[in-house]
Amino acid sequence: MRAVIIEKFGGPETLKAATVPDPKPSTGEVLVRVRACALNHLDLFVRDGIPAYKIALPHILGCDVAGEIEDIGAGVVGFKKGDRVAVSPGRSCGRCDFCLSGLDNQCKEYGIIGAQAGPGGYAELLRVPQDYLLPLPSTLSFEEGASYPLTFLTAWHMLMTLGRCGPASTVLVLGAGSGVGVAAIQIAKLAGAFVIATSTSEEKLDRALKLGADAGIHSPPQDIVKSTHKLTGGRMADIAVEHVGPAVFDAVIKSLKPGGRLVTCGSTTGPDVSLDMRYLFSRQLQILGSKMGTQAEMREVARLVAAGRVKPVVDKVFPLTEARQAHEYLALKKQFGKVVLKVG
Ligand SMILES: [Zn+2]
Repeated sequence: MRAVIIEKFGGPETLKAATVPDPKPSTGEVLVRVRACALNHLDLFVRDGIPAYKIALPHILGCDVAGEIEDIGAGVVGFKKGDRVAVSPGRSCGRCDFCLSGLDNQCKEYGIIGAQAGPGGYAELLRVPQDYLLPLPSTLSFEEGASYPLTFLTAWHMLMTLGRCGPASTVLVLGAGSGVGVAAIQIAKLAGAFVIATSTSEEKLDRALKLGADAGIHSPPQDIVKSTHKLTGGRMADIAVEHVGPAVFDAVIKSLKPGGRLVTCGSTTGPDVSLDMRYLFSRQLQILGSKMGTQAEMREVARLVAAGRVKPVVDKVFPLTEARQAHEYLALKKQFGKVVLKVG
């Protein structure tokens, strides 16, 4: 099959077209003909090399996959050749206390396809265990199908499970144009919340408002704390959906109301933040770390997407052969929604 592989870690130039052996489905697995694979910043981190991840080279990137079932292994039930599917990206051991409690995203062996958990979707074919298949209705394109699993799962776990978002919540979404931001705005609106989106780009804020956000903060230059104060009549936010890190952390802490929850799934502007402990204890704030979500949450999200209650947003589509250009484009952070590789 055709694929784009990396044989060493480094910049976008390490992405290389190659022909590799076709995978064969084992018992309980199907072979998916990949039609689309969405990019995530994780792809760039894995390509650059993450010391903590033991990734064997050559490696095939790509966590967010949609396609059609091409072949069925023994023991697969409920799916047949030709079915349209998206693929749940998280893998766990299935045996530990966390997995058996349904908290598979806390499993010690938790990994993501295209990263620590084997090859991903920058290829024509992908082996997928049947439990990780998500039906994709014909109302959604393959590009849309590839554009929701990782980010909508992440945003759902952050907002609904950890953030306890509800109709009376005020939610601050940092980085409105990111994949998680686009998902968080829609999920918070679905929960009935008042949503304030922030972005460094005026154009992205306009898109965020069209997507359902109630208000936008153009920051910088606007001040997040003062703007949140003004927009909420001084009540401030119940929940902040955060993945930016040091560039906004202090402002986000100060934008929360007493008992407010900062939920973070990343730190794109660096690893270290400083925290004024007085705000934390006197306002009884909660800082909650979040990684992906559970398989049960993934299925809930898939049903909402299939029903059209939340919509994946595709920014730009590149052919697989232009994976390098797609990586360079994603690194510019100009996108609103997902950057997708069209594979088959
Ligand atoms: Zn486990």
